[in-house]
Amino acid sequence: MFNKILIANRGEIAVRVIRTAQSMGYRTVAVFSEPDSGAPHVTLADEAVCIGPAAASASYLNIEAIIEAARRTGADAVHPGYGFLSENAAFVAACDENNITFIGPPAGAMELMGSKRRSKEAMAEADVPTVPGFQSSDTNPSPWQKAAEEIGYPVMIKASAGGGGRGMRLVHEPKNLADELQRARSEAENAFGDGELILEKAIVRPRHIEIQVFADKAGNAIHLGERDCSVQRRHQKVVEEAPSPFVDEEMRQAMGEAAVKAAQACGYVGAGTVEFIVDEQRKFYFLEMNTRLQVEHPVTEEVTGLDLVALQLRIAAGEPLPLTQEQVRIEGHAIEVRLYAEDPAANYMPQTGPVHRWEPATGDGIRVDSGIRSGMAVTPHYDPMIAKVIARGPDRDTARRRLVRALEDTLLLGVTHNAWFLSRILAHPTFAQGEATTAFLDTEFADDVSLQPLTASSKELAVAALILYRSSLQSGHEDRAGWSNSLPSPCPVLLVEGERQHWVRLQETTEGTEARVGESTHQLQVETETESGLVFTADGVRQQCQYHRADETLYLHYTGRSLALLDQTHAPARRAGDVGTGKIRATMDGAVIEVTVAEGDTVQQGQTLAVLEAMKMEHPLKADCDGTVSDLKVSAGDQVRTKQVLMTVTPTSSDDQETNSHGE
Ligand code: ADP
Ligand code: ADP
Ligand code: MG
Repeated sequence: MFNKILIANRGEIAVRVIRTAQSMGYRTVAVFSEPDSGAPHVTLADEAVCIGPAAASASYLNIEAIIEAARRTGADAVHPGYGFLSENAAFVAACDENNITFIGPPAGAMELMGSKRRSKEAMAEADVPTVPGFQSSDTNPSPWQKAAEEIGYPVMIKASAGGGGRGMRLVHEPKNLADELQRARSEAENAFGDGELILEKAIVRPRHIEIQVFADKAGNAIHLGERDCSVQRRHQKVVEEAPSPFVDEEMRQAMGEAAVKAAQACGYVGAGTVEFIVDEQRKFYFLEMNTRLQVEHPVTEEVTGLDLVALQLRIAAGEPLPLTQEQVRIEGHAIEVRLYAEDPAANYMPQTGPVHRWEPATGDGIRVDSGIRSGMAVTPHYDPMIAKVIARGPDRDTARRRLVRALEDTLLLGVTHNAWFLSRILAHPTFAQGEATTAFLDTEFADDVSLQPLTASSKELAVAALILYRSSLQSGHEDRAGWSNSLPSPCPVLLVEGERQHWVRLQETTEGTEARVGESTHQLQVETETESGLVFTADGVRQQCQYHRADETLYLHYTGRSLALLDQTHAPARRAGDVGTGKIRATMDGAVIEVTVAEGDTVQQGQTLAVLEAMKMEHPLKADCDGTVSDLKVSAGDQVRTKQVLMTVTPTSSDDQETNSHGE
């Protein structure tokens, strides 16, 4: 029994857990790092304790600080959310020692399932089908090569302790195996503190289908059906749905039974997910078990009508499962997408920046789980997932259409995000027909416009120019060249979008405003204006848009997507960039994890000089010319800011370059 629950997490999942805990009558305690002091999970909880500075290792992963926060507030239970300490057996032990109920499985089951090698062995023993593979503590390549030949190429090398889609390598040819094994081993050592590897047959065009299971302390276990998480990038889930369009009742039953068997084989208690990979012949194989609440649990809630956090709390309090397998009903369809601060057009590079406006969409069947609010910032310290948008419907296509609409209506202005990319995935015929496999994004979707740098349409530019012009009039700036109410002459507006510049010429007419952008002309009439929105007619169609201005930047949300445009009408001409100058700059806020050169080293263009890590991703920084390293300002472990100069590469033959240059 417990009364007060500490939520050892942040963001949307902390908010999600606090809501259910409070509605069940529990008191709640939030913990937060210094930069999170104003975050929604902090203000929503009854009490909150600061557990340290920004770095996760000093705060959300700091077991001692979290236990101390529980002691100080009298919290007698801890919910770990997902990520962070949710699969950390040492944390479970620390809770036990301090008489705090850990809302999750026993440490033994967690440890077993945390190892891909050991869990596969246990599953094979329990007669749960596993992916054909090989594992050994032998670091000599020959037994691995022999095994790979038997399994058949391509094969997948995985870090046994890996997770979050990291530590995986696909090997197509026998000649690369030994090298890849060695590299994978050292990478796994670095990333997970454990070099153990497993080898698996790489399933071609598979589906990722997982089963939600629940077990109580009395040994009862049930499953709540499947989730299809096949749309993935870099082995990470992007879209999740329940039920799977690929699974029929017979297959659901077989997979459900296998998952329940998996849970029972490890003495499982609480919520868990058994992940399977499914081949084109519908054969399914155990991949791993995640011993926690999953990011995508809402789709299961939407089709079963159950609150999975409530179930977790009841089981942790010692209650039996409140329903039997026969009482589980799956109705309708639900789809979830993960809204990330990332740029799909820049290889999904995580983004940091302000959240000027956050107004989630509403509507029938729409649910948005988020942990941000307007005025906050997305920092480089944590996972870039900022919200989940979920739509439910009586059938798959209704859910899908509702979700497209909700994404188009989701207002997130400031930091760059992936909402448009997500809505384009849902609109793609392959996804719409329920035929997407894990290969979908890299094959059929690879040429999609949402993966190219965003280019504003002439109408978007026209509307942006109109907004800027009107606000300059309102703020009393009379410096718009040649403009006056009585004597309209054209007013030019210069908008900069990434590397591109656009001139828009606005001309007042008797009907409204005419905007000329290159070869296009648009007729605009403003109907009403709110503080940050405009209702207008564009070329005879009544529409609306939302925007936010911050200094020179105009963030515009119009026709279902967001853009950022720089007003440079009055800015001095831009100077040439630093390309090829040898100034090596941080590409984003993050930590330097490796510097591969020393001062005085001779390097070649394209050579990696340092590796930057930010938000789960590694970014190599490369030499942009041949030369010698000088002015090395950083070493491994340093925090750096976007555009900070980290070192200089002085061109080797600068004389030649000067004589060859065109005298710009
Ligand atoms: P799932 O199948 O639930 O996505 P993963 O193995 O991908 O499971 O792990 C969960 C992911 O959530 C991890 O990639 C982790 O980095 C990320 N994560 C952890 N904590 C948080 C958080 N508080 N907010 C957003 N994302 C988080
Ligand atoms: P993680 O712990 O990082 O979540 P998983 O073993 O669950 O690792 O694999 C993550 C994803 O990688 C899967 O959802 C799937 O898309 C892909 N994957 C994993 N194993 C295989 C395999 N043997 N063949 C093909 N794809 C695989
Ligand atoms: Mg997984």
